[in-house]
Amino acid sequence: MYSLYLDDSGSVANKDEDYFVLAGFCVFEHRVYYLRKYLDDLATEINPSNPNAIEFHASEIYAGTEEPWKSMKKPERIKIIKKVLRAFEVAYNTAIFACAVHKGCFPSIDPVELAFEDLCSRFEIFLDRLYHQSGKKDSQRGIIVLDKTSYETSLQKLAIDFRQIGTKWRTLNNIIEVPMFIDSRASRLIQLADHVAYSIFRRYQAGDINYYNIIESKFDSHEGKIHGLSHKQYYKTNCTCPGCLR
Ligand SMILES: [Zn+2]
Repeated sequence: MYSLYLDDSGSVANKDEDYFVLAGFCVFEHRVYYLRKYLDDLATEINPSNPNAIEFHASEIYAGTEEPWKSMKKPERIKIIKKVLRAFEVAYNTAIFACAVHKGCFPSIDPVELAFEDLCSRFEIFLDRLYHQSGKKDSQRGIIVLDKTSYETSLQKLAIDFRQIGTKWRTLNNIIEVPMFIDSRASRLIQLADHVAYSIFRRYQAGDINYYNIIESKFDSHEGKIHGLSHKQYYKTNCTCPGCLR
């Protein structure tokens, strides 16, 4: 079983932002422990007496308006965001998936729907590829896990529709029913998905590649081609990001 943890970054309604991002990673069930342990250890480093009080939320760490981040200097806070992203260095069988939607290019389409449909389709292709690589012997199922607070209703409805009609590009055979919604405070892995989404948002919204560079090699890829990154836009025909070059 593979779980795809997703979170969003950027606001659909905020006109000052050009981008909406839905992103995260999929992980094989046996590797979940290693990611969680890495992040729990990092939380213990920050707050040895109460590591559970630490919630990794990239934009809050960066802003530093609340404790424990408030007492830290900015370089220290940036270091923590980067340390969270380095969790992928301890986990094999993980792949990052991300969709960055330039909202202005799709004025009549809900960017949440667009990104979710795109990522469902990519996850399905990923599971299909594993099945064919195993000589059609090992059929892995996939489940999508989302932060409870992010668009619960519209995404849940969408997921039900996908089961019935498939996405625009392909039918979903390997992904289990509706997504699972969990509280980010209780899940280190949703917190990690939050950092992935933040990295992608910073890359496209602000041209800041400091976080993106840490995870760039972890996108789902096959035979040298990156399949895990989608840049939905048509205003920049010469974009050289891996999502457009593909
Ligand atoms: Zn691009």
